[in-house]
Amino acid sequence: MSAYRCPGCDYVYDEAKGEPREGFPAGTTWADVPDEWCCPDCAVLEKVDFEEIGVKR
Ligand SMILES: [Zn+2]
Repeated sequence: MSAYRCPGCDYVYDEAKGEPREGFPAGTTWADVPDEWCCPDCAVLEKVDFEEIGVKR
């Protein structure tokens, strides 16, 4: 699974964890996140602005 980072505030969406407070249970893939979804932390940047990051930590 991958993770995606908001370039504006460094919020990270991790597919393995999902984002339950936004209604995405653990395991929700990035492809299943709506394109119009915006960052829950800064509410400025949208899904298309996010950058894929590695999760090999
Ligand atoms: Zn953000």
